Amino acid sequence: MLLSLLPRILMIRSWIERTLAAHAGEARPVGEILEARGFRRLPDYFGASLLERVRCVTVERVPVPPLASMGLRLITGFESRHYAGITYGDTYFVDRRYERSESLHFHEMIHAVQWDCLGFDRFLLAYARGLLRYGYARSPLEVMAYDHQRRFETDPYPYPAETLVREELLARFVRHEP
Ligand SMILES: [Zn+2]
Repeated sequence: MLLSLLPRILMIRSWIERTLAAHAGEARPVGEILEARGFRRLPDYFGASLLERVRCVTVERVPVPPLASMGLRLITGFESRHYAGITYGDTYFVDRRYERSESLHFHEMIHAVQWDCLGFDRFLLAYARGLLRYGYARSPLEVMAYDHQRRFETDPYPYPAETLVREELLARFVRHEP
């Protein structure tokens, strides 16, 4: 499965690069968004350098790769869903209707940590493998993001989310790689 996935990963990668280039002008550092929106909690969970490096783009509809036309019909369910947000590398997109949700920005920041820690190709492979094996809601990288998001929403006490996600990723996706 992995071998047949690799050429598609390259197609997805080039689609992502084109998409990011097309929106580069509207991408703003997350640090700026936090100030503008009055989100005060995120700096307690993520390092200042990550918040400066990661960018956010607000859009009418978040861009999703055309997986069916890339021959990835098995995960077409992913393509037809509507997403409030999606992260590609160091940039995440949020749907204009949900941009005021600090919790949504938190969720996408968890994905930004995953991209940063795993690297572009390893993230894409791990994410695609998770979708194929378990479906969207139970794919390991989404479960991780939703678990942290739930803690952010229910526990008022800050914790080092970025550090914990990096440790979790190293233990589960990097050290144990075949
Ligand atoms: Zn997610």
